[in-house]
Amino acid sequence: MRGRAERVYMMFCHRHRLQYRFGSRCPKCAEDQIRAQQYAASGALNQRWGTLCSQPALLNQDQFGICGTTSAVYLLLRHDQNRARELYEATFADLIPAHRNRTFQIALGHQPVAINFRNLARRYQLGLERAIAKAPAELEAELKKRGWDDAKIRDTKQKKPIEYQEWVKLLHVNTECFVDFCVARGLGYVFKQIAKARYDGEKTEFNLEFSDPQALRDYRTFTRYGNFALRTYNLAFILQDILGAKDVHIASKDGPPPAAVPLAPPVAGVTSSTFSTVKQLEGEFTRRFGMGHAAGKFAVVSVFGDLCQPRVGHVSRASPAGAEQGTKQRNQMTYNHWVVFNGFSSVGAAGICRKNHVNLKVWTWKTNFDVNVCEEHLLSYIQDVIFGHF
Ligand SMILES: [Zn+2]
Ligand SMILES: [Zn+2]
Repeated sequence: MRGRAERVYMMFCHRHRLQYRFGSRCPKCAEDQIRAQQYAASGALNQRWGTLCSQPALLNQDQFGICGTTSAVYLLLRHDQNRARELYEATFADLIPAHRNRTFQIALGHQPVAINFRNLARRYQLGLERAIAKAPAELEAELKKRGWDDAKIRDTKQKKPIEYQEWVKLLHVNTECFVDFCVARGLGYVFKQIAKARYDGEKTEFNLEFSDPQALRDYRTFTRYGNFALRTYNLAFILQDILGAKDVHIASKDGPPPAAVPLAPPVAGVTSSTFSTVKQLEGEFTRRFGMGHAAGKFAVVSVFGDLCQPRVGHVSRASPAGAEQGTKQRNQMTYNHWVVFNGFSSVGAAGICRKNHVNLKVWTWKTNFDVNVCEEHLLSYIQDVIFGHF
């Protein structure tokens, strides 16, 4: 499936004498570029890692589509810091002299895996470049969503250029989260090394769904920038086979909206069930999650992203994204976002809303927040839950 566009953009690095297709540098130059940054120095890496070990909630996927592996790293930081450290040291084996040749021993069988830093650096560099290129248009789109018109945007750009530029920068990649990206994406790299067929299937069958609508349908328009979306069974595979989670179980919502893409292949040892009412889902949480993380237990949940409204605290309508799935407006798979639930409980009335609610304690994107969802709308936000414990 060679597109004409690929030949048009073929470039040559004279320094390294190699051809490359994307970004402003060849892969080796991209690696050199990243290595030279202050945020990639051993001291800076160790400092960020220390912060994440003491406060796992600060882990931040930033502008990258890596919510699945980021959720897995968050759980590892909370429940199994020894293995988290092994993953960190293997991820930066090429960068931190003290960890040279360090590999990652996965939980179930297989040889230890060496993580190639150049592979991560290349994606990070491309992600940085793309975020910078896209930020101005993204900011405008966001402002328009909030009711700004062209005149107001133009006016603000002219009258408050410095503030406006600060807003644009918020949409750039935040290099403070370099370690966060590398460790989470490094886990994706390990996945590729030990389960090539699964990894390839994930790219061609699922990440394709997120390919750039302006470009040829090509998963690489998504994955080469550091993104890597995961379907439920593949995240369960990472949790169980790679990270050693026990009693891994998938509870899936029965019924619409239907998944528009094939499910990933089942995983030996991972059990499954379905739910179609809030009561049944609550039963699953009671049985499999109980008192939660105090017992090393976890619940990773694929939700529609519009559930994540930390400042609102009350969700009183059905998921707009969930409703769009499978409709004319959006005939591809709607973006599903992996988050961690640290709590799930019925709470009755909430504030001025007299309906019954479920209180969710959600972690995602470096934030813990509580949200009360009107019970009748809860299932419109939730697709699958992966339970287990470390
Ligand atoms: Zn080069
Ligand atoms: Zn309500």
